[in-house]
Amino acid sequence: MKLFLASGNAHKAAELQALADAHCAASKAAPIQVASASEVGGMPSVVEDTGTFVGNARKKAEALHALLPPGGWALADDSGLCVEALGGAPGVESAYYAGPEADPKANLRKLFLAMEGVPLERRGAQFVCVLYLVGPDGFAISFEGRCPGRLALSPKGAGGFGYDPLFVPEGFSQTLAEIPAEAKNRVSHRGRAFAKCVGWLAGRG
Ligand code: IMP
Repeated sequence: MKLFLASGNAHKAAELQALADAHCAASKAAPIQVASASEVGGMPSVVEDTGTFVGNARKKAEALHALLPPGGWALADDSGLCVEALGGAPGVESAYYAGPEADPKANLRKLFLAMEGVPLERRGAQFVCVLYLVGPDGFAISFEGRCPGRLALSPKGAGGFGYDPLFVPEGFSQTLAEIPAEAKNRVSHRGRAFAKCVGWLAGRG
């Protein structure tokens, strides 16, 4: 089965493909290919202005689905990091936290500075991911995954992407950027949302 991914984020695509491969190998299910929107002319530009993960994911999935041949499946991921001490910020604005043109390093630095001096017991945070699937005849369903944890006192590690160097998932002592990709995928918001998604797909027969 082929899922066209409504995203230009290569890190998300790589993580979702690894998650699909691990699931299919473990369950001996037919392979799932996470295909790039570039195969159908590229991801159309979408303004992520709904204020919710599910609303933004829906907009992206529907925009790509409109370009697919009949019977195609579009999958969108909208995700972000919600920090308790910041009232849930950066949340749905995670990709643009340091400004509309900001890159992931600038976003990470802004978060690090915003949390400077905040003690460990007030550094609780969670990653949230909503996967939105649109299938034949416009059928749609969404899946949410969360990864609770806390922010490290300073960024550490070179793996992963985005805010990974600042985030320590519950049950770990290292950041998501320090642990192997397979370990991140087992506990991550994206991994948990995708497990629900493939479970649902498998249940369709
Ligand atoms: P989106 O493309 O609007 O969903 O933005 C997602 C943003 O949230 C990314 O650009 C990252 O800043 C952040 N993010 C989402 N998932 C992760 C993750 O797994 N690790 C680190 N940062 C993430």
